[in-house]
Amino acid sequence: MQAEMLSVGTELLLGEIVDTNSAWLANELSQQGVDVLWSQRVGDNLERIKSAIELALSRSDVVLMCGGLGPTDDDMTREAIAAVAGETPVVDADLEKTLRDLFSRFSREMPEKNLKQAWLISSAVSLLNPNGTAPGWFVTLNRDGAKKVVVALPGPPRELKPMWANEVLPRLELPGAVFFAKIFKTFDMGESMLAEVLGDELTQSSNPSVATYAKQDGVHVRVAAKGQSEAEALAIATPVLTEVEEKLAGHVWGTDEDNLPKLVIERLAALGLKLSVVEVASGGHISNMLVAAAKSLKQDDRLLGSVLVSNQTAANHWGITETLGDEGTAELMAKKVQADWQSDCSLVIGSLEDALSEAGKAAKVVKIVAHYKGEVAIKALRMPTLSFGWQKERMALAALVVLLELLS
Ligand code: AMP
Ligand code: MG
Repeated sequence: MQAEMLSVGTELLLGEIVDTNSAWLANELSQQGVDVLWSQRVGDNLERIKSAIELALSRSDVVLMCGGLGPTDDDMTREAIAAVAGETPVVDADLEKTLRDLFSRFSREMPEKNLKQAWLISSAVSLLNPNGTAPGWFVTLNRDGAKKVVVALPGPPRELKPMWANEVLPRLELPGAVFFAKIFKTFDMGESMLAEVLGDELTQSSNPSVATYAKQDGVHVRVAAKGQSEAEALAIATPVLTEVEEKLAGHVWGTDEDNLPKLVIERLAALGLKLSVVEVASGGHISNMLVAAAKSLKQDDRLLGSVLVSNQTAANHWGITETLGDEGTAELMAKKVQADWQSDCSLVIGSLEDALSEAGKAAKVVKIVAHYKGEVAIKALRMPTLSFGWQKERMALAALVVLLELLS
């Protein structure tokens, strides 16, 4: 079964709101073993909505629409579906009663404009919306002998999500396929380098499929498979899972829902350790992430202290006169702060220095030092000249992985 998303609303095209519904629905569909090969977004224009529906019907079995079910003239999803189905909407008496009851419960007169939310066409059944005034439509059509389904749901996610689960899913004739997916979260490898390591055979296969996604916490590699049962999906995925695992060896910090700062805090908690952090180039970002993770895990006291320093304060306060861009100085700093604050381990992110990339281009380098029980782990992280927003994410990923490995 192939489904296609069609989100309606000019505000989506203008970037005023983000189309989170189609992402959410796509994820739901993939878990049901439904293939999503297309996703469209269209403004509030009757002709364009109609042609978007026609296009979707020409290539997909199920068209999942959201938005445009409001009472005003610019909400035209019902009009467009009716036109494509070649039917004229009529006011459904039951729906009208429900709608009028809803307004009277809030002691309000129903504006006549709202009456179109009680419309129905004969090929549609209405979908109950307990959280709003717009009921949905589940429309069954016949196109050249093939059964097609068009679903219309309201835009607000708090209305759409329960309707999907309670009203749409039970009505869809699902293929019964089960989906399996595992995500490997990597470090130290860019997306193109990963694609090369994985090889064409893996990245171009469709079941199981192997895909890479560049994320804030490194590149994710997702292995997915589809089967008629959980066991079959897993059996299809297993050989590729093994192969991917071998190819990524030494470059994976976590899987699936793993969160890097949380893994660090959990490791500290498991070992009963307290950490001190000194940041120069990363501007406090890493401490910030660790504090948030510690709070959510109710491990507030794992982070004994953290400071944001400059080379100048390091000199004034700790008597460290060499730049913290230097590896030896960063190591000295890690040991000093650990002794001063009596923590069990420490992490230092030094200052950003000019460097050259492997291709001889201008780049930046930062030294990361982790210290635990007399053992020191050092990493020189080389980055292209990026904005600070990017740099701090790269530094966080590298620094937390260095610490995590040292503690394992
Ligand atoms: P509409 O049903 O088009 O009048 O949309 C009503 C509201 O639902 C909008 O103002 C948004 O807040 C929300 N909404 C509509 N479409 C989407 C979408 N595709 N993703 C997330 N929220 C949406
Ligand atoms: Mg709208």
